[in-house]
Amino acid sequence: MKLTRKDFLRSSLILSGGIFLPVQKSWGRFLDEPKGFRTIGANTGIFSEKGGTIGWYISNDALVVIDSQYPDSAKNFMSGVRQKTDRKIDIVFNTHHHGDHTSGNIYLKDFAVKIVAHENCKMLQEKNDKKDPNNPQVYADTTFSETWSQDLGKEKVTAAYFGPAHTGGDSVIHFENENVAHVGDLVFNKTYPFIDSNGGGTIKNWPNVLNKIIARYSKETKFIFGHSISDDLLVGSADDLRNMANYLTALHEFVASEIKKGKNKEEIASAPGVPGFIDLKERWNGAQKMNLEKAYDELSKEIK
Ligand SMILES: [Zn+2]
Repeated sequence: MKLTRKDFLRSSLILSGGIFLPVQKSWGRFLDEPKGFRTIGANTGIFSEKGGTIGWYISNDALVVIDSQYPDSAKNFMSGVRQKTDRKIDIVFNTHHHGDHTSGNIYLKDFAVKIVAHENCKMLQEKNDKKDPNNPQVYADTTFSETWSQDLGKEKVTAAYFGPAHTGGDSVIHFENENVAHVGDLVFNKTYPFIDSNGGGTIKNWPNVLNKIIARYSKETKFIFGHSISDDLLVGSADDLRNMANYLTALHEFVASEIKKGKNKEEIASAPGVPGFIDLKERWNGAQKMNLEKAYDELSKEIK
């Protein structure tokens, strides 16, 4: 019996268990990703291991890295990058100064042309530097105050500052053509944020910053978050920025009304949660209490 081409294709599909089906092919590609890597756009993606999410852009024209985690996880990240490209790193960005976003600078610097951050990010990292020989710091060598851009061949990357929020020096890094933006710790997706009052953070202004970001980018923008309640929620949309802004506004208003009722810090911090956000989950024990205490401290300073 002579097999037609159609018969041949059908029998090979059965024999191979459907391995040639397109859906199986994309699954195969997913399995091929280096450990911790996830692709978002044609040339963009994230890496998660420990600390703040790393964002990346990898093409024939450029290699860009956003945030650096810790020296050991930055090393693991680079070995994954080397499966994709041999290029030097054109730019390392730091979204803000916290150690889980900048400690890996020391490892990445040997591969990188430059490290770029907002001027306050560098200043706050220097201020926090304990000069611990076991934790040496590497700072940005290029800083900006409002925006900073570079052409990357087919892509253009722009960093922008929107004011104090999670810290005094947060910036958003946007790949304009792929329309992917890393917002650092301006969003803790579906979980309680870390609030850094000593590092220039402010609960009151944070929602304003998020609203400015929503207005600046588009409905289609894919946002990368520094942290989330689970790894599958490290990338999201403007709706997640809106939820974060709503939570921070509710936190500020709730604590202000409790202070008005004459409650003290301890009483306020023992509340079961912020009305409307009782179901929010903690990433670490005591996060909810810490949020209430920080709001109390910030409001007490405002009143004085
Ligand atoms: Zn942070």
